[in-house]
Amino acid sequence: MYLAKRILMLLLVIVASCNPPKEVSTQPEKKAVKNVIFMVGDGMGLTQATAGLVANDFKLNLERVQYVGLSKTFSSDALITDSAAGATAFSIGEKSYNGAIGVMPDSTSRETILETAGAKGLATGLVVVCTITHATPGSFYAHQPSRNMHEEIASDMIDSPLNYFVGGGRKYFATRKDSSSILPALEEKGFSFVESLEAFKSSASEKIGYFIADGEPAPVAEGRGPILSDAVEAMLPKLASDPEGFFLVVEGSQIDWGGHSNDSDYITSEMIDFDNAIGKVLDFAAKDGNTLVVITADHETGGYSLTESEDPWKFEPKFTTGHHTATMVPVYAFGAGSEAFAGIYHNTEIYHKMMKAYGWK
Ligand SMILES: [Zn+2]
Repeated sequence: MYLAKRILMLLLVIVASCNPPKEVSTQPEKKAVKNVIFMVGDGMGLTQATAGLVANDFKLNLERVQYVGLSKTFSSDALITDSAAGATAFSIGEKSYNGAIGVMPDSTSRETILETAGAKGLATGLVVVCTITHATPGSFYAHQPSRNMHEEIASDMIDSPLNYFVGGGRKYFATRKDSSSILPALEEKGFSFVESLEAFKSSASEKIGYFIADGEPAPVAEGRGPILSDAVEAMLPKLASDPEGFFLVVEGSQIDWGGHSNDSDYITSEMIDFDNAIGKVLDFAAKDGNTLVVITADHETGGYSLTESEDPWKFEPKFTTGHHTATMVPVYAFGAGSEAFAGIYHNTEIYHKMMKAYGWK
């Protein structure tokens, strides 16, 4: 048997080496991805996902992903990033300083992937459960030297190609410090503002904004409701009706805030809420076939760990800090082109991998 196998192998090697080389093609032909859905669990380290898994009867939609990688989250000026530098790494593919919103370390603007998508005729959307001017969503449509410049970040939406958004922060648009409103300027650019998800769904406008709060939306445990997954579900058909494709950013914004307040129940309830949105997105992508889903975090928050408790199937939460940590965070990918996300790489690579998936690099 062994000898027969050896002879067979030898024959195969000879046959292979006798074959003339096929026409040289440097790149295997690959179909570009049509849609990318980028999901950020702010502060969602591996522990946050594990805690959510345990709290949700040992199951998460997140488990349906096909490839997992690790992202090195450092910013340009610190081992420990903030959400602005973290999101800017995703949106422009460059490491910048903590606090930077869509700008380089020297404060100059770079086109974000959302802006590129818009310029190429794709539909774009943002769904968050913080203010829409917050560091993560802001870094995709705005260019400002500081994350604290909420009104300036809001104003940048006027010239943004953004089609649809759902999030908090109405006050930065409608009742500004000088008592002005930029809603008319946005309406002039085609925006319709709605007061409910029903109105959002029935609007035929190509640009729709829905403010779910004047400032920050409430935690899900305090009555926010399933707005994150409902908004994703309402927005997906609108985005998918664009024949060119779309780019959507969805953020589980408050997982981070649970970490900052060292509140394990806050973390797990927000994690499960985010996971429900992940479920809607994965259902869509599985059916569509041309959609890439990337789910990651900007950083871990809280130095959260799950230690032994009296009940062998429960954990005692422990925290080492009220701030972010420098630990690498997982990158989860599903659907068309998802294999590119295996491995260990800088957070900036996530931008480059998404651009490549669209065939833009
Ligand atoms: Zn934070």
